[in-house]
Amino acid sequence: MAKPLSVLFVSSEVIPFAKTGGLADVSAALPQVVRELGHDIRIIMPKFAAVSDRKFKIHDIKRLTDMPIKLGDRTLLGSVKSSFLTNIKTKVQVYFLSNDELYCRSDLYVDPKTKKAWPDNDERFIFFCRGVIRTMLLLGWKPDIIHLNDWQTGLIAALLKTEYADEPLFKNTKIVFTVHNAAYQGVFPGSSFEKTGLPEKAFKPEGLEFHGDINLMKAGLMYADQITTVSPTYAKEIRSDEEYGFGLEGVFKKKARKTVGLLNGMDTTIWNPEIDKMIPQTYSDTSLEDKQVNKKALCEHFGLPYDPAVPVLGIVSRLADQKGFDLIKEQLVELMKLNIQLVVLGSGEKKYEDLFTKAAKKYKKKLGAHIGFDEELAHLIEAGSDMFLMPSKYEPCGLNQMYSLRYGTLPIVRATGGLADSVEDLDAKPKAGTGFVFDDYKGKQMLGAVKRAVKAFGDEKTWQAAMKRAMKKDNSWDASAKKYIELYKKLLKKK
Ligand code: ADP
Repeated sequence: MAKPLSVLFVSSEVIPFAKTGGLADVSAALPQVVRELGHDIRIIMPKFAAVSDRKFKIHDIKRLTDMPIKLGDRTLLGSVKSSFLTNIKTKVQVYFLSNDELYCRSDLYVDPKTKKAWPDNDERFIFFCRGVIRTMLLLGWKPDIIHLNDWQTGLIAALLKTEYADEPLFKNTKIVFTVHNAAYQGVFPGSSFEKTGLPEKAFKPEGLEFHGDINLMKAGLMYADQITTVSPTYAKEIRSDEEYGFGLEGVFKKKARKTVGLLNGMDTTIWNPEIDKMIPQTYSDTSLEDKQVNKKALCEHFGLPYDPAVPVLGIVSRLADQKGFDLIKEQLVELMKLNIQLVVLGSGEKKYEDLFTKAAKKYKKKLGAHIGFDEELAHLIEAGSDMFLMPSKYEPCGLNQMYSLRYGTLPIVRATGGLADSVEDLDAKPKAGTGFVFDDYKGKQMLGAVKRAVKAFGDEKTWQAAMKRAMKKDNSWDASAKKYIELYKKLLKKK
């Protein structure tokens, strides 16, 4: 075998340590498969309050204790601790950068009291980025690839290409920056620039300046050697217009030749109805009748009457505009007129939390809602529902539609980003379809797709054939991880 690669994977969230969304799933699954394929990949993330020393068997690293790290004209201390991400096949080392004042809080990015971003998020992630570089220098570890993810890590690219441009340790290191969601860019006032400690020349439109502010995602985009996004369609969308690029579409366009879209995979050790320990009854594409046990349990959970002939439509999501909840809000009365039951698990924007809380009271026999984050219930919804609704305005990749496919829960999605790349419409392709797809971001179109799904559900033979096709689709990480490794290798060959 050719020489194994060494990769540092930098992310602000990784399951099971801390999670707000799909980034955490990717940040655990991808490194584990890369490791399985024989490469030395390690992860680094901030040590948030949720990262419990006892629960995760975290230990100190003596020589990385109380490292002085610059933050503007202050110097703060950061310590690195370590643990492992283990699954049946591999062990991946995870470093945690700790500073209690900055990271030991009840939520990762947002103050739950105000529902607004922590006011010092600039400092929290500038410190993190500098801490990551300091860690590598002190370890003397020379990664071939530093793989950065989203805005929280973007400054590392800028620092390595300016302040550390002559550092021998990073002489041959290449930087990959992955955009998981272009809507979250880490924009802070221009006055925050000083805190980065970057040379003055970086505060310009060709650097991380963004209309007088600083933009940490832009830092990643401008200085990385390679950009990736999490699906091929999303890679095109973000350079198409502002609706997808959120003001960075010009930068995405400029960097088009350095950008590639690689569809995320899903962790099939966690999301697999044949071995899932979180659901009442495991099942496979040869025992579809066993799925009914889960449907029954799901209805019971939400106090809905169980009827095999009535399709249950599931939703598991952040309750954010991005996910299409304005369409659902607009069409809820119409949806409730259909012969369906709707179950919703989610948390986020108050207007949507209120919408579903009220609707659950109004439509007692048709709609169940759980406001909150609940991993186990997410599994039950995937296993017990017949269909899954995901009408996103934009969706960089999306994982829930892949989980739904694997659980034979046919997804109803809008044709955007990773949804367009992973679901095929059953009416358009009766022999290949795995779900229902609509094009325009309009309430009526979404309603039309749900109606088509309800109609198809009535035809048991067609429905079960589609379920089986969906369950057989290989969306595991194996194929995607190999593409990342190829990309790393290609990059290393470049001068
Ligand atoms: P995003 O990263 O935009 O939130 P994804 O579909 O890529 O969307 O990933 C969302 C992940 O978060 C999935 O693993 C999903 O099951 C999980 N998730 C979202 N909301 C909840 C919730 N309320 N309870 C449990 N899991 C949730």
